[in-house]
Amino acid sequence: MSANGYRAVIKGQIQGLGFRPHVYRLAKALGVRGFIRNSSSGVIISAQGKNARRFLDQLRQAPPPLAVITSFRITSVRARSCKGFSIKPSRAGIGAGVDVLPDLATCRDCRREIEDPRNRRYGYAFTNCTQCGPRYTIIEHLPYDRPNTTMTGFLMCPQCRSEYMDPTDRRHHAQPIACPVCGPKLAVAPANARLSPIEAAAEALLRGKIVAIKSLGGYQLACDATNSRAVERLRRRKHRPSKPFALMCESAAVTRKFCLVSPAARAALLSAAAPIVLLPKSLRPAIPVAESVAPRNSRLGVMLTYTPLHVVLFARLRRLTGKAAVLVMTSANRKDDPIIAEARRLSEELPGVPDLVLTHDRPIANRCDDSVVLAGTAGPLLMVRRARGSAPQPVPLGRMFHVKHQVLAVGGEFKNAFALASGGRAFLSPHIGTVATAIGESFWREAFARYAEWTGIEPEAIVADVHPDYASTRLAEHLSRDLGLPLIRVQHHYAHILSVMAEHDLSGPALGLAFDGTGYGADGSIWGGEFLLVRDVANWQRVGHLGYLNLANAGDELADPARVARAYLEQARALGMPSAKRPAAAGQALLQTSSVGRLFDAVAAITGACRAATFDGEAPSALESLADPSENGHWFSDDLLDLSASPALLLPEPILLNVARETAAGVDPAAAAARFHNTLSKASVRLADVLCDRHSVTTVCLSGGSFQNSLLRSQVVAGLRSHGRRVHWNQAVPLNDGGIAYGQVAAAACAERPAPDS
Ligand SMILES: [Zn+2]
Ligand SMILES: [Zn+2]
Repeated sequence: MSANGYRAVIKGQIQGLGFRPHVYRLAKALGVRGFIRNSSSGVIISAQGKNARRFLDQLRQAPPPLAVITSFRITSVRARSCKGFSIKPSRAGIGAGVDVLPDLATCRDCRREIEDPRNRRYGYAFTNCTQCGPRYTIIEHLPYDRPNTTMTGFLMCPQCRSEYMDPTDRRHHAQPIACPVCGPKLAVAPANARLSPIEAAAEALLRGKIVAIKSLGGYQLACDATNSRAVERLRRRKHRPSKPFALMCESAAVTRKFCLVSPAARAALLSAAAPIVLLPKSLRPAIPVAESVAPRNSRLGVMLTYTPLHVVLFARLRRLTGKAAVLVMTSANRKDDPIIAEARRLSEELPGVPDLVLTHDRPIANRCDDSVVLAGTAGPLLMVRRARGSAPQPVPLGRMFHVKHQVLAVGGEFKNAFALASGGRAFLSPHIGTVATAIGESFWREAFARYAEWTGIEPEAIVADVHPDYASTRLAEHLSRDLGLPLIRVQHHYAHILSVMAEHDLSGPALGLAFDGTGYGADGSIWGGEFLLVRDVANWQRVGHLGYLNLANAGDELADPARVARAYLEQARALGMPSAKRPAAAGQALLQTSSVGRLFDAVAAITGACRAATFDGEAPSALESLADPSENGHWFSDDLLDLSASPALLLPEPILLNVARETAAGVDPAAAAARFHNTLSKASVRLADVLCDRHSVTTVCLSGGSFQNSLLRSQVVAGLRSHGRRVHWNQAVPLNDGGIAYGQVAAAACAERPAPDS
């Protein structure tokens, strides 16, 4: 056998970002003969000649910038006679190994072409290249080649074809390649004979109209964000009284005119993922964004123009007014339903909402919302909603959490996302929302079918929440029966803490603080203020919690803050009576809760931050926004803790009584809101400290939606660190229930581990 022939099989995120042209150029430069081919089990390279091995080593050490190689196998083969190096057409095969790429925001080179009047793609709304453009949202099957995408209906013109075929062109094998001659075209409804679709949309927006825009993963609803009447009209038509709207503008420089943009936030805005970044509102904005965009909220969610369609629309607006536009850009959907991706559904589900529809003829293969990340003034960003730009990229699992058997984790009930896992990787779905409705469940099943096909993962077990009434649990029960697979049930807050441990590869022991709105507890009540001891990853115990509140319908996702406040105050006053007893857990399923979210609701109602909520998380975020960060006062004393109880208790009633007393005495609500945060943080840190000492633990994990509150999180982190604890929290997956499926995968990995000797 001749030594200078090699075959390499490469897996990972390598299709659709100029990998093959990169390999081609390298082979040419080194005089290597052979070929490269995409297959559904990876990229295959045949290399011959005296530099063949050097060529492969160089490729492994310095792959193209966006590539992520997860496996690179080289075998020696007999050298065959062949001339030159070629890129061969793809061959369909069995098995999977190639990751589907997320959609990538329009790159600088393409932006330059779109804005250059001499370029043939000037003003063209579907310009893309190997470094940018749609991926996930157009792919139907693997391998990633044009006939397997929704571009299959567009026949390339000779000029596009020659770019596509030319290995030296930056559009070589760019599957969605298109131009004004051969590619997708824009249209508006109602039709406009006088204006182009972009002109018609821009003009409507400037007149305060609402325009539906077909984006990458579905339709968006847009209006002028500086026109409060337009914003309020959109709120009325969408039946969305107060939930914040996301904004879009052209650049980080424009964003800085109405928000504070940290270096990390700027990098996120400009990244290929281009998520919505939650940014602190500027105190003296140069662009007057309407208050109604995000009422009672100290932040605005902003993303930059991430498709060429957005780029040309904003360029048109700038030409018409002479200034940079800021538009509301919110997903087109009915409350709690998935994003709409078809024109027919838009008119059926949102009749009369848009005044104008700006659409096009490139079908959407996979629906996908915009991702959301949270940026503070410093520190790493937090994932709030993981979707466009991130999905379907897998999230690695720490070494302790690699699964031996492939699993499907169905996720939680709210902010649902599922995960398919194999070995050290969890393929977390994009944000699904709810599966409690037929339309939500069908979205779940659609996304699941695609993920199963692409990843080749055939689950051997299904993981679900322990909640008996979760629609996601019922879905898991059906799937487990239909497929004859075992069902593993995992407690909600344990899944939250494991999601942190799996992300940071922590083997335990660790103390987990899981603070959120609702989750079904092991004792049948609704948990949400939990201190969990995870001895090793497979053994956990509830060692502390927020004292119970008696509350009917404690499991509802959206509670009425005023009602929660009344229940709390009633209980607090009754406890002052000599014969009163603290509520205990036994036999009162769904009628009591240890939820930190509910505690925030109550305080928001008492301080006036928010008395009636229309969406989950509204009251807590209004309270955080109200709090004066310069206020250092608090009501903490050791009386807030009952350390002799088992589990130990953090007592909420004295905190509530302090809030009520100060509010009645006319203390500034911003100061009262801050003192509440300070008190809860100090009490949590103190209880965590005691429990860490008691159980000889130094690592603390924070998870659950309540820790999206930056004030609470930063105070708890700082407090624990000052006492020498190592503190971790979620970054790649959401802290909220969007990360539950990932934690469920970790739990399945733990369930495979033999129980340690007791
Ligand atoms: Zn590009
Ligand atoms: Zn063309």
